[in-house]
Amino acid sequence: MTYDVGNIFAKILRAEIPCKKVLEDDWGFAFHDIAPKAPLHVLMIPKGPYTDSQDFYQNATPDEITGFGRFVAKVIGALNVKEDGYRLLSNCGLNGGQEVPHYHIHLFAGKPLGPMLATSVTAA
Ligand code: AMP
Repeated sequence: MTYDVGNIFAKILRAEIPCKKVLEDDWGFAFHDIAPKAPLHVLMIPKGPYTDSQDFYQNATPDEITGFGRFVAKVIGALNVKEDGYRLLSNCGLNGGQEVPHYHIHLFAGKPLGPMLATSVTAA
């Protein structure tokens, strides 16, 4: 998939549309999800133009990968969610339910989050 520079998260990174910012450094940007699915629902995105997790981990530079990983840890620390617990999730493509084609990690916290997926299915 070619990176779409007009996607909504690219616009947030360029400050063309507003967001509720949580944290930013050289490698990442974190902001509150506009339609939260948990009491705390934050999105963390790398600053580079990567469409999804596979694109990012295959094509980003080692500095970008390390920088973004450390950024995720910084956000978790800043939100002070480690003691009570949290969930990270990243969707990709149609089956994953990805809506925005800029790699992002959801962070959910603030209450017991229940089963990993809403429904269970057989592998077949
Ligand atoms: P995904 O389905 O994994 O691509 O998740 C995209 C997420 O982006 C959804 O949870 C949306 O609620 C969220 N979202 C879409 N537009 C905005 C926006 N302008 N500001 C903050 N979050 C957004």
